[in-house]
Amino acid sequence: MIYFIGAGPGASDLITVRGSRLLGQADCIIYAGSLVNPALLGLAKPDCTIYNSAEMTLEQVLSVFREMERNGKMTVRLHTGDQSIYGAGREQMDALDQDGIRYESVPGVSSFFGAAAALNAEYTLPGISQTVIITRMEGRTKVPEKEQLAKLAAHGSTMVLFLSASLTEEVQAELLRGAYTEETPAAIVFKATWPEEKILHCTVGTLAKTAKENGIKNTALLLIGDFLKGPAAEYERSKLYDPAFTTAFREGESK
Ligand code: SAH
Repeated sequence: MIYFIGAGPGASDLITVRGSRLLGQADCIIYAGSLVNPALLGLAKPDCTIYNSAEMTLEQVLSVFREMERNGKMTVRLHTGDQSIYGAGREQMDALDQDGIRYESVPGVSSFFGAAAALNAEYTLPGISQTVIITRMEGRTKVPEKEQLAKLAAHGSTMVLFLSASLTEEVQAELLRGAYTEETPAAIVFKATWPEEKILHCTVGTLAKTAKENGIKNTALLLIGDFLKGPAAEYERSKLYDPAFTTAFREGESK
């Protein structure tokens, strides 16, 4: 059996209870060494075999899966954040399907939730934005034509950019071709939830300069949108907690 587990964004206690229990039972752990907190490996059994997938190809990962299965062992494939976001999970699962090997997924806390927590921010402020676009700047990995950044930027919604910290000049130019302005608030969150976490507040117009001045090139998220204005954002109160609003659980007060 293979478990694909989300390790969480960094802090070792941000893995789920289920993920941590399975880590402790694993005969083999293949972890994404570039970003998974190595402290999590401390949960492994003493005789657990551990591989760092940062140094492996897909084929090598698959061959470890197959060998463990042949020996009736349980493997944990430990991905950073949640594996459904830029996790390269599908290609592994498709190969396992072909081999008739069973697997299950255990979700994790994605870094974009870690970053929101670091800022105590709410991405979906009523009256400001009800949409979060999760995307990346095109680099060596292509982005489909219809999802080019300037097109997505036309919505002016809350936006979270993964894998783009080394491309902030391009990001800035593309965002400005959409609905954002030089003054639209932005934040760079480096290593959210790690001890070395860094939060840099800026605007779309100063995004590239801020990244450069602070030497940010990787392991950072770029957050864009008016939700970052904090108390100055002229958002609306939630209906759910409005005294006048009737819900399935509460009768609204008449005025
Ligand atoms: N599956 C992961 C994302 C993997 S892609 C998740 O759900 O978070 C790797 C990218 O994620 C990095 O380039 C960076 O943009 C982002 N990232 C991962 N961990 C991060 C963290 N702790 N703080 C900020 N960005 C992070």
